[in-house]
Amino acid sequence: MEYEPVIGLEVHCRISSKTKMFCRCSNDIFNAEPNTHVCPICMGFPGMLPVLNEEVVRKGILGALALGCEIPEFSKMDRKSYFYPDLPKGFQISQYDLPVSVKGKLTITKSDGSTKDIGITRLHLEDDAGKLTHTAGGTLVDYNRSGTPLMEIVSEPDIRSVEEASAYARQLQKIMRYVGASNADMEKGMMRFDINVSLRPKGQKKFGTRTETKNLNSFRSLEKALEYEIQRQKEILEGGGQVVQETRGWLDDKEITVSQRGKEEAADYRYFPEPDVPPIVVTREMVEELKGQLPELPDQKLAKYKEMGLSDNDAATLIADMELADDFEKAVEISGYPKKTANWLLSEIKPLRALSTYCATPETIGKMVKMIEEGVITGKIAKDHLDEICFRNPDPEKYFEPFKVMEDTGELEKICQEVIKHNPQIVADFKGGKEKAIGSLVGQVMGATKGSANPKSVNEILRKLLT
Ligand code: ADP
Ligand code: MG
Ligand code: ZN
Repeated sequence: MEYEPVIGLEVHCRISSKTKMFCRCSNDIFNAEPNTHVCPICMGFPGMLPVLNEEVVRKGILGALALGCEIPEFSKMDRKSYFYPDLPKGFQISQYDLPVSVKGKLTITKSDGSTKDIGITRLHLEDDAGKLTHTAGGTLVDYNRSGTPLMEIVSEPDIRSVEEASAYARQLQKIMRYVGASNADMEKGMMRFDINVSLRPKGQKKFGTRTETKNLNSFRSLEKALEYEIQRQKEILEGGGQVVQETRGWLDDKEITVSQRGKEEAADYRYFPEPDVPPIVVTREMVEELKGQLPELPDQKLAKYKEMGLSDNDAATLIADMELADDFEKAVEISGYPKKTANWLLSEIKPLRALSTYCATPETIGKMVKMIEEGVITGKIAKDHLDEICFRNPDPEKYFEPFKVMEDTGELEKICQEVIKHNPQIVADFKGGKEKAIGSLVGQVMGATKGSANPKSVNEILRKLLT
């Protein structure tokens, strides 16, 4: 029998606020000494009062709006009780029945170019726990992460393959970065995934029993864990067995999932409204204000770039790097040649941009491309002087003054005649129908003018002289 995977993802992204969710400790905890970004509130001392950080709510809503979610007027925080040494309060402050946002969608593009909408059930806010490190001498706990703000984005079980799941996760990361809701940097522990997987016979409507595998912290482990879990369940079902509904963990080194515990139900967490945090009331004005702050999203940019005539590949490469996309748009405003500007940025300039001494402004790049396209300088001259442009940022109009294309066509014509005189064989080839032979003549004229002639004019002059 053929089985179809049904997948739903729960994604946690750390919200990029200055301070933590309920206290004034810095939220910038990457590489910090353990337990240096802590206070009685985020260490869960009894009797401490949490104060909800407005920036967290705003950024969370911004992320939700980018996913097309509805923002109810009223939402609240709830206590989700469980015991673990990295959770000194004994509960997580999360959202249960009234999350800050519901019902959105995210559009993924598959490798064959087709698109698919994945439903978003909700995006809610919650605080993170601390971090345990198990060593030979015992277990260490670092509370720097404790109380840092998370948004949890829960998808509908709309995903049907590893490829779709991977595209979803990558697109989500892009969107959260674009709107500035989260840096979603996995190396810094800012984004992690829980995968819910079940199989059903192809054609069957009813979902099968699912497992949940928690805390995958790279795209690679997300993909590997999904592959593993799909295969594991397939083997169970094919052997006539039944999948056990449970929570599993991922062993990165062995690349397998292992059973951790039976699945908790909501009742196991004893959810109840957090009495220390007032409800969150989001006015319609605030929603409008935040909508106004939404930048152009990756998909909108993609459509715009394709409209400008860029290839799918170039558009995608630009969009993957927000700063590069930004510079591209500014440069195009000056140059007026989108495709050529993208070409220069992606093929010649991108490697130089990566260096710390790069200082060319988009305006400079735009001016340079315009000069090339309008035949004021040649592409070769621009290439030869690209270091100067990229690492000194001169005004291209002044800088390229001595390198302008030879305007004196009389002079150019003389050089062309010389080259024709010295290359009777090539001339004969061209006249005999070898169209390509002219390239060699153009090259020689370009060489004789040290690249300052416009190859297009050279081509025209040569053709005129040869017919
Ligand atoms: P919980 O909060 O207990 O983990 P939810 O009902 O909120 O459970 O679902 C969590 C995730 O599991 C969602 O992303 C949802 O799409 C997914 N999911 C639910 N049922 C299934 C299923 N049968 N197979 C695969 N994924 C599922
Ligand atoms: Mg879950
Ligand atoms: Zn604190």
